[in-house]
Amino acid sequence: MFEDVVTRIEAACLRSGRNSKDVKLVAVTKGKSIAEITQSILRHHHHVLGENRIQEWREKASGLDGVEWHFIGNLQRNKVKYCEGFFLIHSLNSTRLADALEQFGARQGHIFQTLVEVNVAGELSKQGTALTEAEALVTYAQKLRHVTVQGLMAIAPYSEDPEDARKFFKILRNLRDKLGLKELSIGMSGDFEVAIEEGATIVRVGSALFT
Ligand SMILES: *Cc1c(COP(=O)(O)O)cnc(C)c1O
Repeated sequence: MFEDVVTRIEAACLRSGRNSKDVKLVAVTKGKSIAEITQSILRHHHHVLGENRIQEWREKASGLDGVEWHFIGNLQRNKVKYCEGFFLIHSLNSTRLADALEQFGARQGHIFQTLVEVNVAGELSKQGTALTEAEALVTYAQKLRHVTVQGLMAIAPYSEDPEDARKFFKILRNLRDKLGLKELSIGMSGDFEVAIEEGATIVRVGSALFT
């Protein structure tokens, strides 16, 4: 439920001496219909939403106005042309994708705001640049004129215990600080409170909002 998640975000902020205004909630609406999104999220005057599939997003975006959209999925280069409508792309994971964004952005006069996605635990099943290559990708993308890098994003390995995510969040936060970036997009339904304690500026919460 939306109210429960907001209450838990505020409590985590309080515990860690943070201002809840510094933590943005991206409501992840993948797999949910416009009716469900309206009922569970928009009704609470919350308009920051995240999607992970371009086609699904395009169908929803055409039916919903006034939303700040975040893209959180794996972005294929041939889909970059649809992405001008995103406030933030959380999943910049290669120089080739950066080049594709730059090329399209230059043609359209559009600047893409991005986060570099880091595969912080080195999981084979996950997208994202290797931890050892993240700095090089950030530096590369920062030189492009139509791409900005606002920060880093990661998905912690799946675990029943949210405490297991903490060490990965710390690694990502340290890297964010070292690179002098602003945003830290970490934390999902299972671990967003730990993520806030470890400095998340953006949490991406899906299932907890709808159950
Ligand atoms: C689905 C998804 C989320 C939200 O996951 P929940 O566990 O449902 O909160 C967050 N980030 C990414 C990248 C996702 O794909």
